[in-house]
Amino acid sequence: MTTSLSIPIVPIAQSKLKGLSLENLPFGKYFTDHMLEADYVNGKWTSIAIRPYASLSLAPSMAAIHYGQAIFEGIKAYKDQQSKPFIFRPHDNFVRFNLSAERMQMPTVPDEIFMEGMMQLVKLDQDWIPTISDHSLYIRPFMFSTDELLGVRPSDSYKFMIILSPTGPYYSAPMRIWVEEKYVRAVSGGVGYAKAAGNYGGAMYATAQAKLRGYDQVLWTDPYEHKYVQECGTMNVFFIIGNKAITPGLEEGTILGGVTRMSAMTLLEEMGLTMEERKLGMDEILDAYKSGELREVFGTGTAATVSLIKELHYKDETLQFDLDKWEVAPALKEKLSAIREGKTADTHGWMIPVI
Ligand SMILES: *Cc1c(COP(=O)(O)O)cnc(C)c1O
Repeated sequence: MTTSLSIPIVPIAQSKLKGLSLENLPFGKYFTDHMLEADYVNGKWTSIAIRPYASLSLAPSMAAIHYGQAIFEGIKAYKDQQSKPFIFRPHDNFVRFNLSAERMQMPTVPDEIFMEGMMQLVKLDQDWIPTISDHSLYIRPFMFSTDELLGVRPSDSYKFMIILSPTGPYYSAPMRIWVEEKYVRAVSGGVGYAKAAGNYGGAMYATAQAKLRGYDQVLWTDPYEHKYVQECGTMNVFFIIGNKAITPGLEEGTILGGVTRMSAMTLLEEMGLTMEERKLGMDEILDAYKSGELREVFGTGTAATVSLIKELHYKDETLQFDLDKWEVAPALKEKLSAIREGKTADTHGWMIPVI
């Protein structure tokens, strides 16, 4: 990482932190004092600055609003037991961000802006990182097209920003899941592997339909047979069958390669499970359930870390689980949060100090 670039900082006159408790804040509702902003104009990144968090003024003709070149990331910062700030695997998000950028025909963002900018911003607002267990500072880098033109083509100009939001804990009650057989999230050749804003908008109708039926989320399946599982809502999904941990593979480009997913795969192997990344069909899941081999099902993602699934509804079948007997998902959640909160040694080099 280059540390040469110093990003100009316009500090806030008076911090908003005074008098605000960082305990039990809802996800994504409060923002810190500062934000980072950079503009891509004429093939170059310019006007890089950290300034007080404030609204933007945008043209109604701004391209992103109309044609959806918009991508984002989600990362978390923590304080260890000595109150030193750390960020969890930010480089993996940086790499993924630029993969999304490429897929959406947007410019990539260099290390000096994404990584350095994030470090400087988090350092400046480090008092906003909660020290309470299960709390963190959520980091949201994002980029969108800014041409003021209604013509359909890739924009020439873009804005990259990072905003920070203290949050936690993210209670996610065990979920009842509707296995989706009508709507699809992603298809091979599509944009499923990119963290593109439109993927979220496109998922909302099916999710709302599942909620009307009394379910919390959908389990997305492949677009052809509605048989192979993809993801659970906006989380990657894991099935514990016997001594195996199985998660859908990334080869078809229909799955967002989660950083939590990657971390979970490493930790599950260390816990003695055999990790398999591959196609997994509902027929296999149903068979494993009926034979008593399907032990646990859970989702992984930065916001909630590990979310337990207590019920799956598929065709006429209801698969129910007795969460009291579960061992893998609770242990995984515990291990991940112990690493992130600095309660256990970080043997993987996942926690990057903010200096
Ligand atoms: C962000 C995201 C995930 C989880 O990725 P993490 O890096 O673990 O937060 C999973 N699925 C989708 C669709 C996502 O957008």
